[in-house]
Amino acid sequence: MRPTLTVIVDPADRWMSRAACIGQAPAYDETATPWEQRKARQLCLTSCPVLAECREWARRTKFTGTAAGETLLYGRRRGHPETAAS
Ligand code: SF4
Repeated sequence: MRPTLTVIVDPADRWMSRAACIGQAPAYDETATPWEQRKARQLCLTSCPVLAECREWARRTKFTGTAAGETLLYGRRRGHPETAAS
């Protein structure tokens, strides 16, 4: 099963309980509209107290969708391979 921000399975991921996006999972899904994704990225960058933890999680789990203010494909920024996460 693909990890999502709505399912907390690892105690190390308890930071998710402080996420600004709680209850807004559809906007962070890869199938969200461009407008929804833009609003989701804006929420990350302006209101989330766990941005750094989320960025590390997204890279570690190879998340696809919107997380940490970025649109990701398997944990890497879409369209920016030269600045992709390693
Ligand atoms: S940085 Fe964005 S995706 Fe990550 S927990 Fe915060 S609001 Fe959610």
